[in-house]
Amino acid sequence: MNTQDNIIIQNYSNGSYKNPQSNAWIDNYEPASGKVYGKIANSNAQDIQEATAFAKAAFTTWSTTTIDERSRILLKIADGIENRLQELAEAESRDNGKPVSLAKNVDIPRAASNFRFFGHAITQFASESHESVGLQAINFTLRKPIGVVGCISPWNLPLYLFTWKIAPAIAAGNCVIAKPSEVTPMTAFLLGEICTEAGLPPGVLNIMHGLGTTTGQAILEHPEIKAISFTGGTKTGEHIARTCAPKFKKLSLELGGKNPNIIFTDCDYDLMLNTTIRSSFANQGQICLCGSRIFVERPLYEKFKKDFITRVKGLTVAHPASAKAKLGALVSKSHLEKVQSYIAQAPEEGGIILCGGNQVIVEGYENGYYLEPTVIEVQSNSCKLNQEEIFGPVVTIMPFDTEEDVLSYANDVTYGLSATLWTKDIDRTMRMSNTLQAGIVWVNTWMMRDLRTPFGGVKASGVGREGGFEALRFCTEPKNVCIKYT
Ligand code: NDP
Repeated sequence: MNTQDNIIIQNYSNGSYKNPQSNAWIDNYEPASGKVYGKIANSNAQDIQEATAFAKAAFTTWSTTTIDERSRILLKIADGIENRLQELAEAESRDNGKPVSLAKNVDIPRAASNFRFFGHAITQFASESHESVGLQAINFTLRKPIGVVGCISPWNLPLYLFTWKIAPAIAAGNCVIAKPSEVTPMTAFLLGEICTEAGLPPGVLNIMHGLGTTTGQAILEHPEIKAISFTGGTKTGEHIARTCAPKFKKLSLELGGKNPNIIFTDCDYDLMLNTTIRSSFANQGQICLCGSRIFVERPLYEKFKKDFITRVKGLTVAHPASAKAKLGALVSKSHLEKVQSYIAQAPEEGGIILCGGNQVIVEGYENGYYLEPTVIEVQSNSCKLNQEEIFGPVVTIMPFDTEEDVLSYANDVTYGLSATLWTKDIDRTMRMSNTLQAGIVWVNTWMMRDLRTPFGGVKASGVGREGGFEALRFCTEPKNVCIKYT
């Protein structure tokens, strides 16, 4: 386990590690203990300027490197991540507070899959041609890499989401300026070394650390960064859209969610209950896809409430390195306080705290950011608890009477990322899947992902789609060539 206490996180720029030019640093906290365990570069506009110049210089060669060669390097990066699974999982857990077991089984394998998937996908990314019959002309579409792309990612699934953006961008022949969240920079830092070992040419990927408001802002404003792929909060997304629109940058925005988990009486009860525990509290509820609003058909409501609470009370909150931890620590003190403020407001809105609600003191780690998994019964879907993204181990439950009622609750929210449906009725499944306002509808499952499918949200959950060819389309500019012949 990585227990070093003064880890210095430098930028990875032009293939090597560098201090920020201003020598400005930010403290890096360990959520499990609340202690500072290292420092992170706080990069400014000059650092971004320098990295962008490296990326631009690398673009000439990288954009004309054969698909086979790009694919080979991406697959080697995937191998490099897998070879360091244990080390990366421990680093992710220490930086984020999530259980090591979760990082080892989900986050890090998925980061490897992201590179492997796009290493293969790029070999199948074909352009179209259209013969203009009768006019003696043929059109074909070139898919040109954009140039330098900015990738900005959040703290909840650090390496998983960081690589989900970087892999398609470089596979398509772009060079990248990437910024992980300043709250969780550790695995992004290690990725630089893995890329060098895999033979990624210098300048193709530049990993720049620092605050959103300085480093992130400099990425948004740099005129040579032509596209921004962003995952994070809806407010930040709004700011990014406002900043980038007048500069005509291409934008992909994956934002917040307030996802309904809809349970009908005819569901497979045990499967539903087991999955609902996960969809409510995996990663301490800090997944944009978590089903934070649970709606249960009235005849099943009291049974569900009893069984769910019994199961939630049995979830162990512990130090993330402990094998018994089902929940670890929340990511930061400020985030813990934000989540607690929602719980504190619950009674004013008529919410009844059925279980949880309190901070957990873990022996030996008394300053860590631990919180009990919390279930709140609400009276109406219009309360703040059901309308605002809490992004922590807090779910609400509420009964419903009819399909129409629950559809209106599900859709009556500003977000539209995902929805989960538990029923065996195929007609209802089809009706509701068509009508739910969400980018993804899971039926009798949750978070089952096939990387070929389009991923993203509607309404305040974002603009654009990631995944499969959608991501490769975002990372390229189509150019139509029309040839007339005689
Ligand atoms: P934030 O929006 O606070 O931050 C996301 C990233 O943006 C961070 O790297 C942050 O840097 C950076 N940033 C902040 N301000 C700026 C700025 N002015 N210019 C450029 N970059 C900036 O989100 P969180 O990190 O708090 O992540 C949680 C949010 O992410 C939740 O709302 C969640 O729903 C959403 N999310 C959405 C997903 C999806 O696929 N739709 C998936 C996962 C999470 P810094 O950390 O330094 O502030």
